[in-house]
Amino acid sequence: MRTCSRQIPVAPPPARLDAAFVVNWLVDAEILCPFCGEAFTAEIDTSQGDYETVQDCEICCRPFRLEVRCAPGRLESLDALPE
Ligand SMILES: [Zn+2]
Repeated sequence: MRTCSRQIPVAPPPARLDAAFVVNWLVDAEILCPFCGEAFTAEIDTSQGDYETVQDCEICCRPFRLEVRCAPGRLESLDALPE
């Protein structure tokens, strides 16, 4: 809780749901590298819907294509494909 305000709402909104749906478009996702097979975690921006990007593997540093399927605030699927 921040100390800048002493006001406490009588009926707080469902903060966790709001944070996930309204504020936090970034979703942590586990990605499997198509080259080395290692898994690592990356943040996926779900605010723009489906998209493709190039992601560098955190373990072997090789770039691969990442196909992201998502709705705002919710990740539906990830495909990691070698370039
Ligand atoms: Zn890798």
